Amino acid sequence: MSNTITAPAFDIARIRADFPLLEGEMRGKPLVFLDSAASSQKPQQVLDALDYYYRHQNANVHRGVYELSQQATDAFELGRERARHFLNAGSTEEVIFVKGCTDGINLVASSFGRKFLREGDEVIISAMEHHSNIVPWQLACEYSGAILKVIPINDRGELIMEEYKKLLSERTQIVSIVHVSNALGTINPVKEIIDLAHDRDIPVLLDGAQATPHLKVDVQALDVDFYAFSGHKVFGPTGIGVLYGKKKWLDAMPPYQGGGEMIATVSFEKTTYNELPFKFEAGTPDISGAVGLGVALEYIEQIGQDNISAHENHLLEAATKQLLEIDGLSIIGTAENKASVISFLIEGTHPYDLGTILDKLGIAVRTGHHCTQPLMDRFEIPGTVRASFAVYNTMEDVDKLVAGVKRAANMLR
Ligand code: PLP
Repeated sequence: MSNTITAPAFDIARIRADFPLLEGEMRGKPLVFLDSAASSQKPQQVLDALDYYYRHQNANVHRGVYELSQQATDAFELGRERARHFLNAGSTEEVIFVKGCTDGINLVASSFGRKFLREGDEVIISAMEHHSNIVPWQLACEYSGAILKVIPINDRGELIMEEYKKLLSERTQIVSIVHVSNALGTINPVKEIIDLAHDRDIPVLLDGAQATPHLKVDVQALDVDFYAFSGHKVFGPTGIGVLYGKKKWLDAMPPYQGGGEMIATVSFEKTTYNELPFKFEAGTPDISGAVGLGVALEYIEQIGQDNISAHENHLLEAATKQLLEIDGLSIIGTAENKASVISFLIEGTHPYDLGTILDKLGIAVRTGHHCTQPLMDRFEIPGTVRASFAVYNTMEDVDKLVAGVKRAANMLR
């Protein structure tokens, strides 16, 4: 979180007008949508792109010699090029379409794990990981006999970097860390994490599910080895996401799944695999998803990630300040460097009850463990109420949240 409160550098009313669902009502009240960390709303531009694709371009890709199939392929590959541009990847060979962030991490844990993890090797994750960046590695460790090591965090919800340095060893095969925590909002010092791992030639995967909607990500500047994110959190469709991987790793890794598209030749004796990125894309891909995702990423770039960050920080600071004035309210996750998420608890109330009352007021927040049960255990809490902001949220949303939380707290105590 920055210390200065800056005014939005763009026209928020115009941005909101792009999102038809936000004009609607919920429980008879104007919707206050504060759960974008779970899934974002979609702008008209993305809805139009999906509609256009199915009305005018729909066919299978990379297969037909006929014109329509070529148009579908062009639209699909434009989505890949837009994803490459969004991440500043060096080549579209390094941009693999997956189902989402979870699928991307599973691809690496499974494929990299099969090739590079052996008994006694170590995989480093952190105490603030989403289950999607824990369980795939537990599976890989189970199959290989490797051991999972966990970087601890401090009470503010920041990684203890001294402990990370101690965990890195000649046994470490990969480090897999969340870029921005979905439950705490912490922005991790990913460049430092990567540089320390690279000093020992250890590759790093970043879980970018919560970073991509809010921050500019440049995989070449980071020099990261793998980067995964989900389309539905960046204003794109569900069912599509991206795994960036450095070519040298993707070339060395075996295919994740077998089927059509990922092969060069098949006989019953031997199959040879397609070139990158298709080697990792078995079966008919989510074509419309890739088209919609490309438009969503372009939408973000047109607004500008710096503008998005400034606007959201403005909301985050105001909400943090006002919520902390409420008697008995504590914020879980008070890192120096935060993005877009406020997790909180109110003494004497259960997060679920708070969330239910807020829902009655038309305010959509998340309650529970946020798929980070080990993190909740670390703080010895059952869960939190989480409000998360996106580019389309306003100061009015913040005011309604604060008023709603005050009302709910008074009712519950
Ligand atoms: N990682 C983080 C930090 C997340 O917040 C999420 C979803 O909330 C995921 C991974 C998984 O994303 P998906 O369910 O879209 O695969």
